[in-house]
Amino acid sequence: MRMIGNNTYTAPSLGVLKTSALPIKDQHGRTFNYLRIALNEQCNLRCMYCMPEEGIDFRSEDKILSTEEIFNLIELTSQMGVSKIRFTGGEPLLRKDLTELVHFAYQCNGIESVHLTTNGLLLSKQIDALEKSGLSGINISLDTLKPEKFKKITRRNGLDLVLNSLQTAIDSSIQSIKLNVVAMRDFNDDEIMDFVELTKENDITVRFIELMPFDSHQIWKTGKFYGADHIVADIKTQVDELNPIDGSRTEHHIFRVNDYKGKVAVIPAYSRSLCGECNRLRITSDGKLLNCLYSQNEINLRDAMRNGKTDIEIEDMIRTTIKKKYIDGWKAQNQGNDNRESMTQIGG
Ligand code: SAM
Ligand code: SF4
Repeated sequence: MRMIGNNTYTAPSLGVLKTSALPIKDQHGRTFNYLRIALNEQCNLRCMYCMPEEGIDFRSEDKILSTEEIFNLIELTSQMGVSKIRFTGGEPLLRKDLTELVHFAYQCNGIESVHLTTNGLLLSKQIDALEKSGLSGINISLDTLKPEKFKKITRRNGLDLVLNSLQTAIDSSIQSIKLNVVAMRDFNDDEIMDFVELTKENDITVRFIELMPFDSHQIWKTGKFYGADHIVADIKTQVDELNPIDGSRTEHHIFRVNDYKGKVAVIPAYSRSLCGECNRLRITSDGKLLNCLYSQNEINLRDAMRNGKTDIEIEDMIRTTIKKKYIDGWKAQNQGNDNRESMTQIGG
C-alpha cells in the first residue's frame, strides 16, 4: 500500500520490485532513460492533424492503465535507469489522478524530472496542485495566436484559456515552459515570427514541430508539410541574429534570437534526423510499450501486470522490445505503421 496525498493505493502484483538495475540499451548501443506515458486517448479538442471531428474508437476505461499500474511502471523503469518522465495523452489534464501521478514520479528514486504535455485548456486551474506535486516542466501545444484559426484547427473555442494557462505557467515556479507549435504551410507559416516574439520577454522555448502522418484523415498529405530546414531558413531571413545554443536531444536546431530571454527550437519529427540520439521509451494509454514513434513493434505491459508476471519477467519484456529497436524511424515505418487513427494512440 502507498499513501499519495490523501489517497491510499495498492500495487497490483509486483510486490517489492526487483530488477537488475542495468541501463536499458538497444542493439545499436543507445541508452534509454526517458519514459513518455500516455494517460488517456480522450481529448477536449479535435486538432485536425490529430483526431477526427467525430473522435476515434476510444478504448473503454478498463483497457486504460490504472493509477497503480502506472505507479508500478514508473517504479520499475526508474530502477532500470529511467530518470525523466513525461505524461502525455490524449489530454492528460482530463485524468483525475494526474497530480498523484506527478507526485509519485517526483518522489520516486532515480527520477530527476517530471514533465507534462498538454493542450492547456484546463491547465490554469490545476497549476498550483501540479506545482506542489513536483512538476518540473510543461509543454503547452498551441498552433496559432488567432482565435478564428484556433477554432479551425482544434474544432473548438478556447484560445483565451490556453493563453491564460501559458501566462500562469510562466508565472509559476515550474522550471521549464515550452510551447509546441506544429508548423504548417498556408496555415500558420505567417505566424512564425509572432511565436518567435513570445521569446523576447519570456524565458520559454518555442518549438516548431514538423507535421507527422498520424491521423486517419491524412491531412498531412494536403501540402501542409513544412520541413525543419525550411522553417529555420525562413526564421533566418526575418531576424538580425540567430545564435545556436544547447537544447534537448530532440531539438535539432536551437537558437536564441537577438538578445531575447527565451529560445526557439525546430523539431524534425518527420525528417527524423535525430534518431541516432533517441533515448525514449513510450507507453500507450492501454499499456503497450513502443520502441519508436513510427513502430508497430509493441508489447503489452498492462496484460503482463494483470496476469501477475513478476518484475523480472516484465523487465525482460521491456529489454527485449527495446533491444529490437530499428536504427531510425524510417526503418521502423517500413515495417508498417498505417493502422493508427490518431497520435493519441501513440502518445505524442
Ligand atoms: N493533448 C496534449 C497536447 O496536445 O499537447 C498531449 C497529446 S498530443 C498528441 C502531443 C503533441 O503531439 C502535441 O504537441 C500535438 O501538437 C502533437 N501532434 C499530434 N498529432 C500530430 C501530428 N500529426 N504531427 C505532429 N505533431 C502532432
Ligand atoms: Fe487533443 Fe492534443 Fe490531439 Fe489536439 S493534439 S486533438 S489537443 S490530443
